[in-house]
Amino acid sequence: IVSIRNLHKSFGPAKVLNGVSLEVKKSQMVAIIGRSGSGKSTLLRCLNGLEKVDSGDIEVCGYQVSRPEGLDLRQLRKKVGIVFQSYNLFPHLTVERNVTLALTTIKKMPLAEAKSTADSVLQMVGMEHKKDAYPEQLSGGQQQRVAIARSLAMAPELMLFDEVTSALDPELTAEVLKVMENLARNGMTMALVTHEMAFARKLADVLVFMHQGKVWEVGPPEELFERPKTSELAKFVSSEL
Ligand code: ATP
Ligand code: MG
Repeated sequence: IVSIRNLHKSFGPAKVLNGVSLEVKKSQMVAIIGRSGSGKSTLLRCLNGLEKVDSGDIEVCGYQVSRPEGLDLRQLRKKVGIVFQSYNLFPHLTVERNVTLALTTIKKMPLAEAKSTADSVLQMVGMEHKKDAYPEQLSGGQQQRVAIARSLAMAPELMLFDEVTSALDPELTAEVLKVMENLARNGMTMALVTHEMAFARKLADVLVFMHQGKVWEVGPPEELFERPKTSELAKFVSSEL
């Protein structure tokens, strides 16, 4: 579903991605770890066209994302959901409306159908009982679950998660990780940036260690955690324990 070849990206003089190649296959969970500033978020943002690339090829869900000419970002973003650390719900809309908004506007879905879609995705994240609440009435973990439901409502082929639990305390983190675990078990293809090492180790099919804008090591999580090939990864793993 995702194929990245030799991706380069700079911000001014700073080389942030320095020849990244990576594949995500259907139904895989690919977890990306690495130090702050190693380019993890930039890489995810490139995948749904939030950042323009300098060179290299990115194909996502059949779209040539690295060639902005002729790329229909709207179509791409129907297929690729992204959830960030901050929940970004619309504060003046109820939970249900947050979920149905893009369905009725972007997908032109009739309201009744959008509501029933909202029901089913809110159920998937355990938030159907809060559909009439406003975001400020919810905990951070609940807001994050609604944000995930809002993305799922669009029936994406790929979900991107950028440190979605970093702002949450442990109990709420566990709730959100559970939702992501269920998604993975149901075959959702996902790429995520995380500091939750135990989660990545248990559930990721492929673990990616980024360092200085490169994929420094990639492989099965067990292997990277148990037998890091580089001192950079060994140091990172021990610093995260
Ligand atoms: P963290 O773990 O802290 O989230 P990260 O691995 O996600 O880090 P990125 O956010 O991808 O790192 O940033 C990589 C580098 O690119 C950083 O040095 C950052 O300062 C720089 N950078 C990111 N976005 C921009 C931008 N819009 N303009 C200029 N520099 C940027
Ligand atoms: Mg980041």
